Amino acid sequence: MKKIKWEQMRPDEFVAARDARPVAYLAIGPLEWHSLHLPLGVDPLKAYHHICSVAERIGGVVYPPLYFAADAANRDDLPLRSEAYGGELFERVVEAKLDFIASNGFKVILVISGHGGHLDAVRAVAGRIAEKHGIRVYATQDEMHCGPELYAGDHAGGEETSMMLHIAPDLVDLSKLPPRGEPLDTAKLVIHSPKPDPRVQSSAGYGRESCEAITADLARIVEELLAGKDVRQSGGK
Ligand SMILES: [Zn+2]
Repeated sequence: MKKIKWEQMRPDEFVAARDARPVAYLAIGPLEWHSLHLPLGVDPLKAYHHICSVAERIGGVVYPPLYFAADAANRDDLPLRSEAYGGELFERVVEAKLDFIASNGFKVILVISGHGGHLDAVRAVAGRIAEKHGIRVYATQDEMHCGPELYAGDHAGGEETSMMLHIAPDLVDLSKLPPRGEPLDTAKLVIHSPKPDPRVQSSAGYGRESCEAITADLARIVEELLAGKDVRQSGGK
């Protein structure tokens, strides 16, 4: 199978992959509380899955995921902290990463956040890097790339749980939630979702459908960017 991950390539493989498809990919998201049943890295893990799927389909080079965020869900009654560094440091780090990636000769960079809340900052940085290097930098969030019936925007609910059941089922444990039929305190668990009960509103098949729709749309966008077409940034629904 062809390599897509930057850190696994030898120099000749890197140059060949870049020259065949001069697009690089970066996934960003925090280590963040996602209720009791999901791993802490849901946001970067799903974003990284999406770009790896795109690269497998159309080529390019995937940079290692950036576990970093400007903001994240933190509450004193939760047993652990989520990762959040504030906007200024976040922008500096993302800018340094994108500057490094761009300096390696790519014509297009796709930056995808699996996390809401800091997309404006990512886009501000993307604009500066695009101008500095004379390249296209497209910054987006995964929920903007499939219809709201599949993924309307979710934190630890049926949508993200379904994606994780597809991407990494071993990392999901629905038995950590109260048994079906018992009340689910979504406020306490910090579940925000149009599908607020992952016990009955999630499945691997549904997650696969969402992930495949996102992959297809992102692949189309990258192809258009590489072809020099005018691609508008998705603004959401
Ligand atoms: Zn999330």
